[in-house]
Amino acid sequence: MAREISAGGVVIRKRDEVWWMAGIEPAGEQSRTAADRPGPTGRKAKSVLALPKGLVDPGEKPLETALREVHEETGVIADLITKLGDIKYVYSRSWGDGERVFKIVSFYLMGYRSGRIDQINPEMRIEVARALWVLLDDAPKLLAYQGEKQMAQRALEYVVAHPEL
Ligand code: ATP
Repeated sequence: MAREISAGGVVIRKRDEVWWMAGIEPAGEQSRTAADRPGPTGRKAKSVLALPKGLVDPGEKPLETALREVHEETGVIADLITKLGDIKYVYSRSWGDGERVFKIVSFYLMGYRSGRIDQINPEMRIEVARALWVLLDDAPKLLAYQGEKQMAQRALEYVVAHPEL
């Protein structure tokens, strides 16, 4: 099976005593649950909420990838707080012969430093429809994928255990 290694970030920011997390809506990805199908009103399918991440380039360290991808996909610059963990999944490529891919993604908890959410390079719109702050408390339920939900849950536990942040 083909393998892919990616890295990404859970970027958090405290504003007015509440924690926010930077999420992205990947371009062209829609939730496939029945509840999200266009109903009688013809509303379009709900978009998926995901974490910023991307493939680790040759010679790059996963943390470098994660910081770079966070900046490219969300527009914000963030600093490492701690590593959160690795998630694993298998998917089938939507192109070519539909080969199955085993993927590992390392996630890091990061603190917001600077930049404005969703101010991204126009070329990135091919990948990212929108970047936005969501309440960290809501993130585990809002994120679409099980592994990413777990990363947001770990981030929540970390901020509770580190009130000095
Ligand atoms: P990258 O962001 O690492 O460059 P990509 O955008 O090429 O990767 P993925 O985000 O891994 O690819 O998406 C490939 C497929 O896997 C899509 O169908 C997506 O819906 C699905 N997918 C993405 N993340 C997860 C996950 N955490 N768990 C399960 N399936 C996922």
